[in-house]
Amino acid sequence: MKLKRKFIKTKSPYLAVKTHVNGDFPNDLVALHNFEGGYCGVSKVENNSINLCYITNFKTFKKYKDIEEFQQKVVLKNKYLKVVFSNTAPVFEQPLSISQISFEDKKPIENHVLMCGDTAALIHPLCGNGMSMAIRSAQIASLLIIEFFNSETPNRETLEKQYLREWNKAFKSRLKIGHVVAALFNQPKISEVLMQGLKWFPFILPHIIKRTHGKLMKVK
Ligand SMILES: Cc1cc2nc3c(=O)[nH]c(=O)nc-3n(C[C@H](O)[C@H](O)[C@H](O)COP(=O)(O)OP(=O)(O)OC[C@H]3O[C@@H](n4cnc5c(N)ncnc54)[C@H](O)[C@@H]3O)c2cc1C
Repeated sequence: MKLKRKFIKTKSPYLAVKTHVNGDFPNDLVALHNFEGGYCGVSKVENNSINLCYITNFKTFKKYKDIEEFQQKVVLKNKYLKVVFSNTAPVFEQPLSISQISFEDKKPIENHVLMCGDTAALIHPLCGNGMSMAIRSAQIASLLIIEFFNSETPNRETLEKQYLREWNKAFKSRLKIGHVVAALFNQPKISEVLMQGLKWFPFILPHIIKRTHGKLMKVK
């Protein structure tokens, strides 16, 4: 069944590249570095590998012939990324890439289908937490569906209304803030000023992080 959802019809300007490398990197650090047209996350993952994952816009990327040239000429202009990329050895034969990542508004319910995770909305990876949003939205849906099948919910319409209400309560505001933060960091000049500002006033950062992340999930 094809849902013909609105966001599918719009071309998305984002693509992402991910690879694993071997080298030295602290276990307890998740680093995020920006470059012209995008940003790159660096963190330790399984098998002691380092995950390098960057997202960029197609407009910047298409000026270069391939990933290698883009990395050399754009990504590695960031001195921190240059250190990471230059002092590590690839684990993957080739980096993985995906395009058409859509951050457009989606609907958490369409055609009476309760959407969970990325199908309901995709938060900018800059804010992180997409995986936890997927788990949390699945928890909200499951608990409501159990109530529905236990006849505690009068009908399907009420179930859908409840899901929409709880989904909005859990995610709407953090998605909005995520959009604003990502839009600001997408502007090279503004992004530089913001980074400088955050260096001078580091106490602001936890407030931004708090507003793009949810509360601790309770097991019910
Ligand atoms: C570049 C990038 C970096 C990210 N970095 C982070 C991060 O650091 N931390 C974080 O928390 N989140 C991150 N995210 C977001 C995170 O990956 C997603 O939010 C999360 O994986 C969503 O989970 P999901 O279950 O909704 O979808 P997915 O994890 O995409 O799972 C959907 C599954 O369904 C399968 N599938 C699709 N169609 C069909 C079909 N027709 N039949 C059967 N199976 C099908 C797919 O193959 C896939 O396995 C990032 C996202 C991107 C794009």
